[in-house]
This record gives sequence, structure tokens and C-alpha cells, in this order.
Amino acid sequence: MKIIKTVEDFKKIRSELGEKSLGFVPTMGGLHNGHLSLIKRAISENDVSAVSVYLNPTQFNDKKDLETYPANFADDCALLEKAGVDYLFAPTYPVMYPDDYKYMLTEKDFSHELCGAKRPGHFDGVLTVVMKLFNIVRPTRAYFGEKDYQQYKLLDGMVKAFFLDVQLVPCPIVREENGLAISSRNRKLSAEGLAKAPKFHEILASGGSEAEIAEKLEKAGFKVDYVTIKDKRLYAAVFLEDVRLIDNVER
Ligand code: AMP
Repeated sequence: MKIIKTVEDFKKIRSELGEKSLGFVPTMGGLHNGHLSLIKRAISENDVSAVSVYLNPTQFNDKKDLETYPANFADDCALLEKAGVDYLFAPTYPVMYPDDYKYMLTEKDFSHELCGAKRPGHFDGVLTVVMKLFNIVRPTRAYFGEKDYQQYKLLDGMVKAFFLDVQLVPCPIVREENGLAISSRNRKLSAEGLAKAPKFHEILASGGSEAEIAEKLEKAGFKVDYVTIKDKRLYAAVFLEDVRLIDNVER
């Protein structure tokens, strides 16, 4: 696996690849089996594969959340190498934001709902960084998890609005056997929190109105951030031990 740290180097490699199809998986590191499912598809469906590991500060409204994000670059490299990834793009802030975030991409509607209502500026950061990454990597296909379903929908809208030549591939949520959606943030939970966390998905899957689900979650010891049914999907975010967990199920 080749590790690339600058825009110039990646662009040079991409132009040398010419017409070869490139499957791309953007991540923030702290890689786990959820990421791995996207990576395996990117490898199997394209001539070459690229993964980015970049903890994007502009999508964090909570500084503590950013500072405590559980990621280890050496572990990530080992996992990617073992999976058979061709290129790892691992930039720094000055590389990604030579403008110091004076320019940003904004969506004016859905990005202000759900996670966007609770995390102001979050989706501006997501859309901006993914647009930058697409311009550098020029992927044929880019793989995103349905765990972050709102993010996937907003990126899909961005691709259509700006006529981008990339095919987005939504990938199913990977869960632990107990139903808990795998997330880098699960590593921040204590043993007790980890034992309680699967109740989150169990309650979402159990049916009922938004208010009923919120009540069940609070009773089970979660602090509810939101529970919203929209477009035949139930979206929810909760806090457990100060760790923010999100999930969604079809309705
Ligand atoms: P992140 O590193 O959290 O930005 O995630 C990178 C990509 O992996 C995003 O497209 C996520 O939706 C996806 N992802 C994270 N966790 C899971 C999971 N449990 N199942 C499927 N995709 C996931």
C-alpha cells in the first residue's frame, strides 16, 4: 500500500492511472469492521482502491469530541495493508485547508435537521471535505455507510447538484451480533456502557411512535438527542456516558 500525504502526489498518481476505475472510501480513522465492509466492496468492484484517513476538524462542533476521537494511525495502516488497499491518502489540516476554511459548501435544507440541528455546522464540514477529497482523488465510485444515512443523502444531493462524475454506493449498516451499530465512538464506552448500548438498536427496532421510542430510550438510561421519523426511516441520536451514538432503521 502506498501512503500519500499531499494533493500534488495524489493527483499525479491519479492521472497516471488514467481510465482505470478507482473505488474510494473516505474515513476519519479508528477503523473497524464497518469501514472494512465498505473497503472490501471498493476493492472488489474497481481496478484500484483508495482510502482516506483524515480526522476532519471542520465537522466537529464539539472540541472535546474531536480531541477524544479514538483513532490510531498505525493500527489503521495495518488494517488497510492487510485488506489489500492500494492507496492511503492521509493529509493534514494545512494540506486540506490551504484557505483555512474560508470557503465552504452549504446545503440549506435537510442539513439543518436531525444531526444538523443538534450539531451546527457539522454538514458544512462534511460536504466541504468530501468535495475536496473528490477533487483530489477523482473516484469512479465512492462508498458510504448507511449508518450515517443523513450524511449519505446529503452527499447524494451534492453529487447531483454539482454534476459530479462519481457514483455513490450506499452500504448497509454493519452491526455487532447484539445489534449495536459498529462505530469508532463505541470504544469510548466503559464495559458497563458497552453492555447497555445494544438496547439502543433493540428499542429502535421495536416499533412505536417517536414519543414512545424516546420514552423507552430514556427509561433504559439513554439521554435522547432526537428521535425522528422521516421518509420511511426512523433516525435517532442518544448520549450514553457522554458518548453520542446514532442509528437508523427503515420504517
Ligand atoms: P467515519 O470514519 O465515521 O467518517 O466513517 C467512514 C465511513 O464508514 C462512512 O461512510 C460511515 O457511514 C461508514 N461506517 C461507519 N460505521 C459503519 C457501520 N457500522 N456500518 C456501515 N458503514 C459504516
